[in-house]
Amino acid sequence: MNLFTFKGGVHPPYRKEHAKDSQIEIAAVPDQLVVPLVQHIGAPCAPAVEAGGTVKEGQVIGQSDAFVSAPIHAPVSGKVKRIERALHPLGQKVLSVFIEPDGADEKEYLKPLGDTIDQLSSDDMKKRVMEAGIVGLGGATFPSHVKFSPPKDKPIEVLIINGCECEPYLTADYRLMLEKPGDIILGAQMIGKILGAKEIVVAVEDNKPDAFKKFKESDAGKGIRYVLTHTKYPQGGEKMLIKAVLKREVPSGGLPMDVGVVVSNVGTALAVCEAVRDGKPLIDRVLTITGNGIKKPGNYIAKIGTPVSSIIEQSGGTVGTIGKLIVGGPMMGIAQSSYDVPVIKGTSGILLLQDEKYMKEGHLPCIKCSFCVQVCPTQLLPSRLSILAEAEKWELMEQFGVDDCIECGSCSYVCPSKRPIVQLIKTAKLKVRDIKARENK
Ligand code: SF4
Ligand code: SF4
Repeated sequence: MNLFTFKGGVHPPYRKEHAKDSQIEIAAVPDQLVVPLVQHIGAPCAPAVEAGGTVKEGQVIGQSDAFVSAPIHAPVSGKVKRIERALHPLGQKVLSVFIEPDGADEKEYLKPLGDTIDQLSSDDMKKRVMEAGIVGLGGATFPSHVKFSPPKDKPIEVLIINGCECEPYLTADYRLMLEKPGDIILGAQMIGKILGAKEIVVAVEDNKPDAFKKFKESDAGKGIRYVLTHTKYPQGGEKMLIKAVLKREVPSGGLPMDVGVVVSNVGTALAVCEAVRDGKPLIDRVLTITGNGIKKPGNYIAKIGTPVSSIIEQSGGTVGTIGKLIVGGPMMGIAQSSYDVPVIKGTSGILLLQDEKYMKEGHLPCIKCSFCVQVCPTQLLPSRLSILAEAEKWELMEQFGVDDCIECGSCSYVCPSKRPIVQLIKTAKLKVRDIKARENK
């Protein structure tokens, strides 16, 4: 079979075996959930409830008037204990709603719209995606109703449903594809109708042939095209996937819609299906807990706001001395300093690594080996960018295309000098953004 792929990328050890055979379990509801009011790209939400009040599962607890935002809903019924700043997986403290569950499971969901695609209007479904607070669940957390609203001069021809899950260790999407292929397909059809897409393509990496087979078995003449992509990191990056599947190149500084494409993750398609068909807001998500530092790696559906420590406990606790706790995968995830951080909409995994060498690695000067240049999937010069960042040459970095970096970490992964290239680039992007904001004032 012809496999689809892109130029560049790396082949890290995938280590999916830790959790890939574990069926999705329901994570225990903790004694207290901490729901951050910042869980997406765009405007943060303001509290829509007050301390001391009660909430029902699915009730809006945070919202914003901004278009680029997404409401936040109570994951359980219970009492709002307090609203104050608390630790967030991105590292800073943000305003969060502390909820003590009452065990009553009282729900306040949206009205189900049904599952007959022909009878559903695209406007109703798009409104539902917004009301349900759906954001990109592949980790990008961009509000989906915004992504599904391209301007009139950029019609969408192709919707790609991303089932690559190229991050090492993570298996949440893989389990979803095995366990809920029909719902993912239904969600894909709903998104396809919202966008007016002429074609829907589902892309799965070739290290998941059973997920690919499941999709094909569940399809029953829905007219969706299924493709197997080469297993390579970061195959699941939007621009890489578009290049691999459609041979279209998203221009520098551009978006998939510039080439008539929208890419949506399989978890997002499932969330759309549940919101439209069942009226369920985005109050939980599937994640993987894995690594050599956890006793029983597995996949869980966890309520948003569940502390990482609660899922670790349910997974039998840690093993050995933990060198690193990462929320997400090893390539793009974020190292954490506390087990108290909550699961948020973008939490695809919890990775516990035992090896203490992760704490001790330092870095050396660039030896100009060009390994990083060879693997960069966006054809940047990571070595040059990292040197410019160290010299604080922010404007020059912009000329060298720093904004096109997708922060995949492939450059850092291959660097023999262990240079923190992505970290330097991330910092530089923020500086460049600050400079631009000041110039536009
Ligand atoms: S420069 Fe950016 S896009 Fe290129 S390999 Fe490094 S992190 Fe990935
Ligand atoms: S891989 Fe590391 S050492 Fe080699 S050129 Fe890139 S930054 Fe320099």
